[in-house]
Amino acid sequence: MTKTPKRPSFSSRNCIACWKCVEACPRKAIRKISILWHRHAIMTGHRCIGCNRCVKTCSRGCFKSRCDD
Ligand code: SF4
Ligand code: SF4
Repeated sequence: MTKTPKRPSFSSRNCIACWKCVEACPRKAIRKISILWHRHAIMTGHRCIGCNRCVKTCSRGCFKSRCDD
């Protein structure tokens, strides 16, 4: 049986636009939103492989890993 990757959940509420997650993601699944004062990361889920690097990288807890069941 093929398992789909467990993508982390993401909320930009506490994002401080440090862009560390953007640099950490090996799949370029996280992008920058930067329009005037409106600056935060955004996750494009279809590229994500569920490696959880973003979860470990973000000091603001914007990414949460999902359990297997
Ligand atoms: S690491 Fe966290 S705080 Fe920094 S840009 Fe990414 S989501 Fe925002
Ligand atoms: S889990 Fe890995 S591939 Fe998915 S957004 Fe985070 S760093 Fe990128």
